Amino acid sequence: MDAQEITNLPAPQSNICDRLVWHYSKDGLFSVRSAYNMAVELEGRSSAVGQSGLGEVPRGGWNFLWKSKVPGKVKVFAWRLCKKALPTCSNLQRRHCGVRNECPRCSMEEETEKHTMIDCDFARHTWALSNLAWHKIGNWGDSAETWLRSLHRNLEAWEYRFAIMVAWKIWNSRNL
Ligand SMILES: [Zn+2]
Repeated sequence: MDAQEITNLPAPQSNICDRLVWHYSKDGLFSVRSAYNMAVELEGRSSAVGQSGLGEVPRGGWNFLWKSKVPGKVKVFAWRLCKKALPTCSNLQRRHCGVRNECPRCSMEEETEKHTMIDCDFARHTWALSNLAWHKIGNWGDSAETWLRSLHRNLEAWEYRFAIMVAWKIWNSRNL
């Protein structure tokens, strides 16, 4: 059946040789940007029809992160935070790379993303010193991604940038 459809295709009129093209960019050339945009679009489609896909991507994808005006390394930190890819003790233990999962700062709780960023005393004191409104900062939701999205939604643009920088500093100072 496929063979018949192929033989029914009109023969090309020009002498230009066939070549491989990347269907998802205008010039036919592959770029990481076009592949990323395609992946975001596919994720959006699969979540729209109720499949889990790679996880639900709300409108705008990850622009709240990649388009924020903070240094690239800070964006990467925030991305890793969202993807549970930071070497917190909890993540290390989950991957069988660590014996203990409690917070190295306070030893009071498991060192999850939430604990590191807002529950640990160190984090709370840091946020208090930042003067950002705690009722906007302390609303974690169900994941780091939800948290960052809510910061993006609820803070002024400069406050949001500042908050990501503070979060990065909280993590970075832990690793000194
Ligand atoms: Zn702690």
